[in-house]
Amino acid sequence: MNLETSIEYVKGIGPEKAKLIKNVLGISTVEDLLNFYPIRYLDKNKVYKIAQLQENNLEIQLKGKITHVQEIQTGKTKRLTAKFNDDSGMMDLVWFQYSKWLKEQLPINKEIFIFGKINLFNNQFSMPHPEIEIEEKKENDNRLRPIYPSSEKLTKRGLNQRFFQTILRNICKEIPNLIQENLPEYLMQSFKFLSRQHTYLNIHFPQNLDYFEKANYRLKFEESFFFQLGYALKKLHHKSQAFGNPFPIVGDYFTSFYENHLPFELTNAQKRVLKEIRLDMKKPIQMNRLLQGDVGSGKTMVALLTMLIAMDNGFQSCLMAPTEILAQQHYNGIKELLEKTNINIRLLTGSTKASERKIIHQELENGELSILVGTHAVLEDKVKFKNLGLAIIDEQHRFGVAQRAKLWAKNKIPPHILVMTATPIPRTLAMSFYSDLDVSVIDEMPVGRKPIVTAHRREKDRAYVYNFCRDEIKKGRQIYFVYPLIEESETLDYKNLMEGLEHVMNFFSDYNVSMLHGRMKPDEKDTAMNYFASGKAEIMVATTVIEVGVNVPNASVMVIESAERFGLSQLHQLRGRVGRGAEQSYCILMTSDKLSTESRTRIKTMTETNDGFKISEVDMQLRGPGDILGTQQSGVVDFKRLDLVKDSAIIKATKKTVEKILEKDPLLAQANHQIIKSYYLKYYKGKNKWSKIS
Ligand code: ADP
Ligand code: MG
Repeated sequence: MNLETSIEYVKGIGPEKAKLIKNVLGISTVEDLLNFYPIRYLDKNKVYKIAQLQENNLEIQLKGKITHVQEIQTGKTKRLTAKFNDDSGMMDLVWFQYSKWLKEQLPINKEIFIFGKINLFNNQFSMPHPEIEIEEKKENDNRLRPIYPSSEKLTKRGLNQRFFQTILRNICKEIPNLIQENLPEYLMQSFKFLSRQHTYLNIHFPQNLDYFEKANYRLKFEESFFFQLGYALKKLHHKSQAFGNPFPIVGDYFTSFYENHLPFELTNAQKRVLKEIRLDMKKPIQMNRLLQGDVGSGKTMVALLTMLIAMDNGFQSCLMAPTEILAQQHYNGIKELLEKTNINIRLLTGSTKASERKIIHQELENGELSILVGTHAVLEDKVKFKNLGLAIIDEQHRFGVAQRAKLWAKNKIPPHILVMTATPIPRTLAMSFYSDLDVSVIDEMPVGRKPIVTAHRREKDRAYVYNFCRDEIKKGRQIYFVYPLIEESETLDYKNLMEGLEHVMNFFSDYNVSMLHGRMKPDEKDTAMNYFASGKAEIMVATTVIEVGVNVPNASVMVIESAERFGLSQLHQLRGRVGRGAEQSYCILMTSDKLSTESRTRIKTMTETNDGFKISEVDMQLRGPGDILGTQQSGVVDFKRLDLVKDSAIIKATKKTVEKILEKDPLLAQANHQIIKSYYLKYYKGKNKWSKIS
């Protein structure tokens, strides 16, 4: 037997069962079986008493004797029943499908263990299709009994827990011939790992809980270790291959802006991140960096300063945003900041007029245009640069990977890439999501920002909420009302929005109300947005169109209607639209009275914290990490045992370990690293979906 042996040759399986197992569980080799982990363990020492049973559908173990077996015929169907006694009471065991063999083999009047799910009917517990074990010899005592993932289809055909336990017990006897170590001695010692052989043994048949934990720890470590190794090797490879334009100098554009036009002192986090970017761009290697920073942490300024460095080195830059509104805002903001300089900046979106487009094309090609801000429109083939040196993408999760690749092709030597995102995910997770990117984090808000006060209110509080808004408007502030937009029921959402609008306009009839939603044309959106941003409208009623990036510092209240219908990160993004000025800001979450447990957790989290990282951790626990960044990158994180949220300590430890190893031995050439290398080459190289992302 070896790892590749087909399971049909394993004692006790045979071709027919092998086929079934393959179809139902996708298991075809001995190796697959070894990696078929129990979902839990039944403590063999825990034996229930019939007289004390209360809860239905519990999977339990009982100890007693079968005293009587009977076949019962009803119509055309037969069933087999047996009376089972322990010293506390009696219960029926039932088989609806059984063989003659089973009937004859049932051990009568012998001390046995039975195991199965109990069923309550007519105030009587019974156990259908129990598994039976004659009380075993001492050596098997003390063990936890593995419970494997199973299905009715398998159980019905005799492939029950007993079957898998027997098969795996047989295979585990071969472990010394099957399993080889894949970590060097020095790691084994420093982490106090079980050997790989003992790990497999104790995953299937743990000596005790302590050993199970040790085995589990090692499996998680391995998973994370080899994943990270692949990631690090790929990055090393990329660095040795990807040419980039070095930006060696920081010159006049940067310095004179920094000294004369910067409207505020940079936060320390902004400074640190800028330094990281600077060091990256100095090298003749293409930068691929992810800039994470909570909403309002000041990513735009970092982007602008980075573009000025590109200019100092004689290169053009582009800044791409996911929506027209955002692109327009970036353009306006940056243009204003650059007002007193002679830097040429233009905006290119789907609605840019042909005449302006022509100028842009020309100026890009002859190099007169230094900074281009835009939407997807900048990706079009017609848009050619003289020497694009830097491409910045705002709010990455709205862009696909393919689009990023398109930017690469805009210059012979690919431009440096800076991706900015406000979806704050733990660093370890970011690394697995964006495996080809280095990560920088702005983890500090500009000083003087007052934390947003968040409250949960219900329909009965509406009058109070409206009056509160009125008071704020009287103080000169502006208000957002946001309604959910979920695509499947767009018509319904639209109706809600219109009703809400009417309601708001009625109550606030003495104020101006602007409205923004996804069905409006780009120029209508602009008009509505400008109406609010310029202060002409005190109130903005909108759908989640305004979610990303919109910046109106005078807006101090965000009322989110039907807040229970929003996801956590979306709520956090929306809340980030206020609290951008010096005034105290508020976020009011309006919900119906009845909330699901999950909605309640979301709302509670929002009222308790403003910290985007904490929020995303809760979000991840609620939704699972694969869901967070949309479908385009899911499947990136399908680990068997490793939990990206709970096991962050392991992930950190493995990352450090991998870094240390590769620092000394980047080619894994050392003798004691050969087992790592061969295992990696066999199991990981080329198999990682994530490695194909960029
Ligand atoms: P985001 O990271 O969400 O894109 P922005 O770049 O839009 O955040 O910045 C949010 C607001 O904070 C802007 O009004 C910006 O001018 C301001 N800001 C950025 N950096 C600082 C700073 N260091 N000190 C004070 N205000 C800042
Ligand atoms: Mg932004």
